[in-house]
Amino acid sequence: MTSGGRAIETSIFTEMTELARRTGAINLGQGVPELAGPPALLREVAAAVQAGENQYPPAYGLPALREAIAAHQLRRYGLGYAADGEVLVTTGATEALAAAVLALTGPGDEILTFDPCYDAYPAGARLSGATLTAVPLTPDPDGGRFALDATALRAAVTPRTRLLLFNSPHNPTGKVFTPDELDTIAALCRDHDLIAVTDEVYEHLVYDDGARHLPLAALPGMRERTLTISSAGKTFNVTGWKVGWACGPAHLVAAVTSVKQFLTYASGTPYQAALARALDGVEEWAAGLRDTLRAHRALLGEGLAAAGLRPYRAEAGYFLQADIRPWGYTDGMRFCRELPERAGVVAIPTVAFRAAPGGAGTPAWLARFSFCKRPEALREAVARLSAA
Ligand code: PMP
Ligand code: GLN
Repeated sequence: MTSGGRAIETSIFTEMTELARRTGAINLGQGVPELAGPPALLREVAAAVQAGENQYPPAYGLPALREAIAAHQLRRYGLGYAADGEVLVTTGATEALAAAVLALTGPGDEILTFDPCYDAYPAGARLSGATLTAVPLTPDPDGGRFALDATALRAAVTPRTRLLLFNSPHNPTGKVFTPDELDTIAALCRDHDLIAVTDEVYEHLVYDDGARHLPLAALPGMRERTLTISSAGKTFNVTGWKVGWACGPAHLVAAVTSVKQFLTYASGTPYQAALARALDGVEEWAAGLRDTLRAHRALLGEGLAAAGLRPYRAEAGYFLQADIRPWGYTDGMRFCRELPERAGVVAIPTVAFRAAPGGAGTPAWLARFSFCKRPEALREAVARLSAA
């Protein structure tokens, strides 16, 4: 495994989770929530299984869930989609992303994204044969946000650029793109006739009052060229259910469906049935979850700072970035491989989210720590880091 090129080799999550298992270290690596989902939702799944909802759902997804997704997009963002034809249920956001990249790009095409990026993006580009071009997000020297360089973004577009793969709230930085940044990105898509595929799996997990999630599809001229992807995993603490979805104009959804039917055809009937009901009440649930995770973020951030690792601001999601140089490290991969022994904690090297092996952009001296864990685990982890 190499630090940047692991896209289709062992994923960094598998490697670091295995390291945690082998060493008994506290796993602040993979973003697996140690928090329970809504009790009613869990009961509904059991009820759906008992009621016999155990066979293939329609390939597009259960109609009730598609309707709940369409209602959610309209209620929250004013985005209208037809439940029949403009909404597709997938096996997690992962399948929606893979099917979109496979359906919409091929050899000779370029996909534009940001660096760092979620590891499924380089993997998807490699599967489709397209080239991934990534524009660096630059960490603020004072520990603030990661910033978009609009000039670099515009310079990265070529006549071959076909698709923008855009993630906000962003993994691994926790950045929520600002309205101005969204305007810049939307203008670029319109000017160059790009399709936007947006990954919004953390849409409900925005903690700072100043930051607000706005789908790129909601900007002028963007609905018709945007496929909006999200998932139940993060919103309801049910990452193992692997229910995701994509909304967009019928021609994009049809293209993605044509690939999706040969990846998995369909999945998770009882989960879909239960989620259809839960999505209607998501706002109330998500407000409570945000309160919990906001407190966890504070616990981890203060603990990292007390341990001499410099955390960056993260407005959303599950993760904090930390500068590891105060501990004498410049190589995040080495830091993360040594951390279990040194401190009994597992983190993920941020270089694993580089868009290309050996690529520039993402500094090597960052590590990603996850705060979607039990508070006791977070307290113990920060105590260990301070003692190390
Ligand atoms: N996109 C991002 C940015 C993620 O962090 C994740 C996973 N946590 C996914 C997609 C995958 O989502 P799912 O588990 O629904 O496939
Ligand atoms: N999205 C999760 C993370 O970033 C992990 C998902 C996975 O294991 N593929 O940690």
